[in-house]
Amino acid sequence: MITHMKNLTREELRAFFAARGEKPFRADQVFEWMYRHGARDFAEMTNLAKSLRENLENDAPLLTLKIEKSLISTRDGTRKYLYRTADGCLIESVFMKYRFGSSVCVSSQAGCRMGCVFCASGQNGLTRNLTPGELSDQLLLARRDTGEDIRHLVVMGTGEPMDNYDNVLKFLKNITDPAGLGLGRRQISVSTCGLMPGMERFLRDMPQANLAISLHAPNDAIRTRIMPIGKVCGVRDILAFARRYVADSGRKITFEYVLIDRLNDRPEHADELAGNLRGLNCLVNLIPLNHVAETGFAPSSAAAARAFKERLEAKGVGATVRRELGSDIAAACGQLRLAAGADQPLNGDHFFENPID
Ligand code: SAH
Repeated sequence: MITHMKNLTREELRAFFAARGEKPFRADQVFEWMYRHGARDFAEMTNLAKSLRENLENDAPLLTLKIEKSLISTRDGTRKYLYRTADGCLIESVFMKYRFGSSVCVSSQAGCRMGCVFCASGQNGLTRNLTPGELSDQLLLARRDTGEDIRHLVVMGTGEPMDNYDNVLKFLKNITDPAGLGLGRRQISVSTCGLMPGMERFLRDMPQANLAISLHAPNDAIRTRIMPIGKVCGVRDILAFARRYVADSGRKITFEYVLIDRLNDRPEHADELAGNLRGLNCLVNLIPLNHVAETGFAPSSAAAARAFKERLEAKGVGATVRRELGSDIAAACGQLRLAAGADQPLNGDHFFENPID
């Protein structure tokens, strides 16, 4: 049976080694090699007996992904990775360099079945959930390739994390385990279109991590036009949950709001949104729509985005307009595409291809 080590928690890894007649501390050694040192194969684990290393490698290779291609933005150092899974799925992650440290944005699924009409990621539907190992390897391979110390993680790539909750939770447990990478829970943000069962579990399981909800509209009439999930979980339900989330976790909640020309970016929309969020410890992250050719929607103007932000702030609601990174390499929100072949031509003089050895 194929056992990918990175699909197991450290506890499960201990049981795995015990069942093979090995000392449980072997699990801690392997765990450290995988997450702290980012080992690419068992041969690197020099404090393990050679026979054990070979047996493990025969069970299943350590890496679940291969870097198929990487693009580096010459504007801001953003890198987009296209990874190939063992069964041939192509998934994408984005590495971002910020003044306060580097961050990786990972995909939670190959494709997506949420069907938000403005988003490129889900236009071919869902292929499958990603495994905990595939989630970890997106981060670990980007760290190894860039040589940067990654201290922040966002689960905001392709896919809906709450639709793959068990695997996402296992992944978060593994990368926050102090015996490995030890990423701080507060440095993690998970973004959801609003799947209530997953959000409830996330509040219970990871109250220290950050939750971002893609709201994108002040009311159900607009929201259901652009997000099918709006018919299952309405704005009122989301707001009620958000209030409970803030009370129970003691943390601020983030709302993402894609600004679409004339659809949801008018002053009356800002007023309605501000009214909904009054008194809630939250931040509205305004994202000017990234153009996706097939969708027929246009981004708001910079002036409209600024006016929207100021109108929210005047009513006491904190808001930022998201700075766009990596737009020259189609790495910005909603632009991650499944197949390299299906990509818009990534022409232009702002990126170059990273040679992969
Ligand atoms: N499924 C999750 C996470 C993935 S999308 C979610 O819905 O939150 C990450 C963010 O990018 C979401 O807020 C999503 O709505 C937004 N997004 C999708 N397409 C976009 C586009 N074309 N322009 C700007 N943001 C987009």
